[in-house]
Amino acid sequence: MTFNPPPRDDFPQPAIHSALTLDRMAEKRGDTAWVKRRLEDKNSRFLLFADLLLAVDSNADRSETRTRWYAAKDLVKLGVDLGGAMLLGCNAKGHGVFAVSLSAAEAVAVPGGMDALHPLVDLRTLALQGALTPHDLSLVAMGRALAAWHDETRCCGRCGGYTIPCDAGWRRQCWACGGKFFPRTDPAVIVLITDGTRCLLGHHKRYAHKFYSTLAGFVEPGEDIEACVRREMREETGLTIGEVSYLASQPWPFPHLLMIGCWAQALTSELRIEEAELHDARWFTREQVRTMMEGKHAAGLSVPGPHSIAYALIKSFVDSGG
Ligand SMILES: [Zn+2]
Repeated sequence: MTFNPPPRDDFPQPAIHSALTLDRMAEKRGDTAWVKRRLEDKNSRFLLFADLLLAVDSNADRSETRTRWYAAKDLVKLGVDLGGAMLLGCNAKGHGVFAVSLSAAEAVAVPGGMDALHPLVDLRTLALQGALTPHDLSLVAMGRALAAWHDETRCCGRCGGYTIPCDAGWRRQCWACGGKFFPRTDPAVIVLITDGTRCLLGHHKRYAHKFYSTLAGFVEPGEDIEACVRREMREETGLTIGEVSYLASQPWPFPHLLMIGCWAQALTSELRIEEAELHDARWFTREQVRTMMEGKHAAGLSVPGPHSIAYALIKSFVDSGG
């Protein structure tokens, strides 16, 4: 049973990645005077989320969509408080790049209400449409993941007191017990299982009809990536996994995951599907997968689009040739 994962250098880069042109300026986050100067810099730019939806600009028929980058004065004019702005970093010219996240109630309270912020769009939809450049998509994903963490960390997990954002959005501190909380990223494996000539794709209950993708699962405490792949794939499919090869990772801001992309070698082929999660899983040849990628599968089966690391894994299998 051959197992020939592609060289990592040949692996397609996922659409969402670390925004390489951004300097995160982690060492400056706690320097309030420095952060204030960046907030006041007329060349700093701000993303805006309202209820985790992104403010965008689009043309009349919505066929073109771009990230709406605000200047500080535009946000002040809208009545948005910049006190909670999250510093994503500095761009190549040294200007601040921030994200501001309003809850639904805060967005309604903006003078002019939600209408002043429209259009607001779900990031998953934007990613699926390929509407944003990979650079903007990566920045927006970073902002959304951070915003989602703030949303769910408003109270202290130790004493229940309110937590207060600090360090330009990169820490929260409990006002009552002083507990410190840092942005979390949850690791999850996403796996292309192959027996050498075929790959295994699954249809989850939450997926659209006839949509098949690579299988995924959360890394548990005390578990390394390889053990997680073997456990998750056994639980979901009944397969015994041999070799596991890491290829690439992708930040995935729903809400704040790090998808760890692997190829895995199937040592067995008989499937025993965990029906609570998975509706179906099947073996597909390269040619079958190719027709699914091209939208030409005879039964109308499809695979994820280029926004996801699942696509990169599936494409790497088709391109690997055999
Ligand atoms: Zn506390």
